[in-house]
Amino acid sequence: MNESATLRMAQQAREMASKGFDIINLSLGEPDFDTPIHIKEKAKESIDLGYTKYTPVAGTLEIRNAISKKFSEQNGLHYSPDEILVSNGAKQSFANLCFALLESGDEVILFSPYWVSYYEIIKMAGGTPVLLESTVESDYKPNLELLRNAIGPKSRMVVFSSPCNPTGTVFALDYLKGIADILKDYPDILVVSDEIYEHIIFDEKHTSIGSLEGMNARTATINGFSKGFSMTGWRLGYMGAPKEVILACTKVQGQFTSGAASFTQRAGAYALNHDLDSTYAMVQAFHNRRDLLLDLIKEIPEWKVNRPKGAFYILPQVDHYFDKSYQGYFIKDAEDLALFLLSEAHVAVVSGDAFGAPNCLRISYSLSEEKIVEAIQRIKSALAKLN
Ligand code: PMP
Repeated sequence: MNESATLRMAQQAREMASKGFDIINLSLGEPDFDTPIHIKEKAKESIDLGYTKYTPVAGTLEIRNAISKKFSEQNGLHYSPDEILVSNGAKQSFANLCFALLESGDEVILFSPYWVSYYEIIKMAGGTPVLLESTVESDYKPNLELLRNAIGPKSRMVVFSSPCNPTGTVFALDYLKGIADILKDYPDILVVSDEIYEHIIFDEKHTSIGSLEGMNARTATINGFSKGFSMTGWRLGYMGAPKEVILACTKVQGQFTSGAASFTQRAGAYALNHDLDSTYAMVQAFHNRRDLLLDLIKEIPEWKVNRPKGAFYILPQVDHYFDKSYQGYFIKDAEDLALFLLSEAHVAVVSGDAFGAPNCLRISYSLSEEKIVEAIQRIKSALAKLN
């Protein structure tokens, strides 16, 4: 297993900050907003009312009803409450799936660049990731012929996130239809659609692949509260999937961790039944920051970027700087460049390596516009030193 690259970078940034350096952190994978007040109040009330005991492993009926309704009203998905499993974060939803469904040597087709944990969890569960490569020029959307060619007798799942971490790419309706069309001929392959960033989307509409004709019954739709409700520390995620998949995953979760925290589930159900005004305010801020960042990055023409339409990341291709040096630094890859930027610019970013994008850096814009301006200014000055 590999150590999480994002966590390693965060640790190094913290160490420098503790030595008194003013570090701007563009490596974070969480919204910089507080959890909306009405959700926090509901959790406090739930503790006071005694919602402090074990819940059913799959989650309370209250939250599974709320999720079932949300799927149906917002996503055109039809999962009854017994086709829903609530977990300790969307990360656990994905881990449950891999441990429940994969036999040693089974293949999982991953749209690349991909979220780091997919790769590591698939391997941990004995599976083999099969990557569909893409480029910044194609907005990080793999050519779907690659999907057709990757399918073989051992293919068990196809996995992607849209909006995507780390690219910000959104797989819109037409592209999803293309995926569904190819998979029509392979009914035994489960589609795993991670929609945790569904609300954080700009100039595009979110579509769930499970809402396309014939897809609901063969799609596991993963979602959660971490991003859209800024609840990363609450550890609450969920999945809708065919009943036999949910039963298998519930068994796995029942042995590993049991149900998610009881008062958290009650607050989560409340969040889903409430209006999304606080989410939309946060999304507007991300939208403005995305526009600002794209403008600022124009001043670094050596970086190749797409126009991310969701989440809060951008994945510039930065290999122009490989084999360049400055004083004691020699930049051989993106990891070296990230370390150089941390030491010289005091800006923390993550190498794209762990996301399947070794020529890229992943930059998170989950911080104020003022800091974004300052960070890009510093990066620009540091890069100018390399030759
Ligand atoms: N999926 C993706 C694509 C993510 O980026 C993340 C968080 N970085 C997760 C899932 C995990 O979310 P959670 O906090 O719900 O475990």
